[in-house]
Amino acid sequence: MQETKKRQIAILGSTGSIGTQALDVIAAHSDLFEARVLTANNRVEELIQQARRFVPAAVVIANDAHYEYLRDALADLPIQVYAGPDALCEVAQGGEVDMVLTAMVGFAGLAPTIAAIKARKPIALANKETMVVAGELVNALCHEYQVPIVPVDSEHSAIFQSLMGESSPIEKIILTASGGPFRTFTPAQLADVTPQQALHHPNWDMGAKITIDSATMMNKGFEVIEAKWLFGVSPEKIQVVVHPQSVVHSAVQFEDGAVKAQLGVPDMRVPIQLAFSFPTRLSSNFERLDWWQMPHLTFEAPDPDRFRCLALAYESLRCGGNMPCIVNAANEIVNRAFLEGRCRFLQMAEVIGQTMEKAQFIKEPTYEDYVATDADARRIAADILTHTS
Ligand code: NDP
Ligand code: MG
Repeated sequence: MQETKKRQIAILGSTGSIGTQALDVIAAHSDLFEARVLTANNRVEELIQQARRFVPAAVVIANDAHYEYLRDALADLPIQVYAGPDALCEVAQGGEVDMVLTAMVGFAGLAPTIAAIKARKPIALANKETMVVAGELVNALCHEYQVPIVPVDSEHSAIFQSLMGESSPIEKIILTASGGPFRTFTPAQLADVTPQQALHHPNWDMGAKITIDSATMMNKGFEVIEAKWLFGVSPEKIQVVVHPQSVVHSAVQFEDGAVKAQLGVPDMRVPIQLAFSFPTRLSSNFERLDWWQMPHLTFEAPDPDRFRCLALAYESLRCGGNMPCIVNAANEIVNRAFLEGRCRFLQMAEVIGQTMEKAQFIKEPTYEDYVATDADARRIAADILTHTS
């Protein structure tokens, strides 16, 4: 890495689980990295604290109701304060920004990611929903603007690391899954699980939305889609393997039968740091694997009958077009509804499945089609939910 200029990083979603861990990495390597842009949606107090500590050039609060409060709180510092979704796109394109970490949640990540790519900013991709919704379009733009994407999602970082130094074809990707908190639950038990139970992930401490997605295994379905677009591998070559200990973060099998995996203690700061420093590895004081205290590593097949969301994600990938976008939108609706006690656990997959049947299918969607599909599918899913609850 160049010693002379610090890498200027825009963190979109700095107040979240990934965002705060990214700031830990920046603080630990303040000689190499600087937080250039910080953004949040509603957690304005956290954003103010971060801004006072890291003094970025700009901050954005996506929900503009908080704008004046934020501006006044930072008035004594040389920080530009903006509000609204369009401002997210503008700051991601800022001249000094060297890399954009997409750490916001949901479909809202798509527009700023595209804006950053068009400004030729390398992407550290956490916001998997962007690839789920519009992976083909994002890939085409990355190709056109010659922009690299470095994955932050732990599985995709593991695959990326397994591919470092390799140019031979991939025979198979082994995408590991913890199985979430309900891995061993029977359908009868699943029917009654609560948001509190679902929020208690066995291995990872993450934002609420992805934690619920992990409990339904929609998260793993999304990761299959993400892997397809990031690594150019067809879905039949992506095998989901349930590995409850989350030590093997994922693996790649090559045509000679060799399998390369990346292992480690579950800690998102490892892939975040690698994305920031790539192609170099930096030192860290993160916890190391203790081979003598290692849990037994076990592997089992996923059960798409109990975890129907996983099957729906595969189905959307087979359909192609805007179907994954439909699934993502419906999932955002039921995920929120489940968290708020307005949807039962198993009902989530039912609503998503019905939305897939009702929403208009578009074989070759444009960006505008994705935006319209997202809005439509949300409306349809919300409607189904109201009429079946
Ligand atoms: P969190 O919910 O913890 O944080 C989300 C961040 O995005 C917050 O800063 C939030 O602001 C902001 N945000 C939420 N909605 C919007 C919006 N509409 N517009 C702009 N900003 C918004 O999520 P995570 O950090 O857990 O996840 C972030 C992304 O990374 C997701 O796509 C997730 O799938 C992915 N990911 C996360 C992992 C993890 O370990 N957490 C692992 C792998 C991938 P505010 O705080 O104000 O609400
Ligand atoms: Mg993951």
